[in-house]
Amino acid sequence: MSAVHNPFDLEGRIAVVTGANTGIGQAIALSLGRAGAAIVAVGRSPMDETQALVKETGARFHAIRADLGSIEPVKAIVAETVSIFGGLDILVNNAGIIRRADAIDFGEEDWDAVLGVNLKTAFFLSQAAARHMIGMGRGKIVNIASLLSFQGGIRVPSYTASKSGLAGVTRLLACEWAGKGINVNAIAPGYFVTNNTQALRADPDRNAAILARIPAGRWGDPADIGGTAVFLASTASDYVHGAVIPVDGGWLVR
Ligand code: NAP
Repeated sequence: MSAVHNPFDLEGRIAVVTGANTGIGQAIALSLGRAGAAIVAVGRSPMDETQALVKETGARFHAIRADLGSIEPVKAIVAETVSIFGGLDILVNNAGIIRRADAIDFGEEDWDAVLGVNLKTAFFLSQAAARHMIGMGRGKIVNIASLLSFQGGIRVPSYTASKSGLAGVTRLLACEWAGKGINVNAIAPGYFVTNNTQALRADPDRNAAILARIPAGRWGDPADIGGTAVFLASTASDYVHGAVIPVDGGWLVR
């Protein structure tokens, strides 16, 4: 019997995941590694824990230390990835920050910092990666958006602006690059147990209100994102362009 082609197989693919030291980025790195991809973990913190977990999957691993608060390192990230592993097939723009304050008091620094990491760097790293991918005639870019790509939220104006902008940029890049063999899509996580949501979970009223609205009846575990990331990184999604896929326990359909 001939071997059946697995459309989710990432064997031989090279994936860059930003913010991979913790939370959703770490879970995505693990899932892509399990599917066969070599992992380049990019971030400003040590990647030791992620390295140990990814190595257990048998995947190749390389860490790049970079502060994505500016776009200065983006070209070097692509160049180092290509020089270490010989290519770059998958980019996951996961690194992100959130700042909470009432809109009436919100400060410029909190605006610029969040827009910088969540939107500006995601765009320019995508551009640097696409310059390589276009030469190969294929590539996969996965942006980590948010429910606030669809909804307003409260007390997070720059975060909502950044994630709504990221959904728009996902659609724009899909329009420009689909014809060049690059799939640009996004995942919109619901409420996940990570550092990002620590303040919400620590507030008993907000925690209860959020849980009451999630049809699945629980907060998301970062591992819940992995399958969608593998799908969007694999040939299984070759005809999917510009989608923003909610992985939210049903929050948006409530
Ligand atoms: P997290 O644990 O706070 O992870 C954020 C990641 O981004 C960390 O690895 C962080 O590195 C990295 N990062 C932030 N600023 C950076 C910078 N200047 N340079 C390099 N790396 C930087 O939160 P998370 O929930 O896993 O967040 C991952 C993504 O999911 C974010 O884009 C977030 O907006 C999105 N998201 C999360 C939720 C949720 O419910 N948790 C919902 C929707 C969307 P450090 O550890 O060094 O800070």
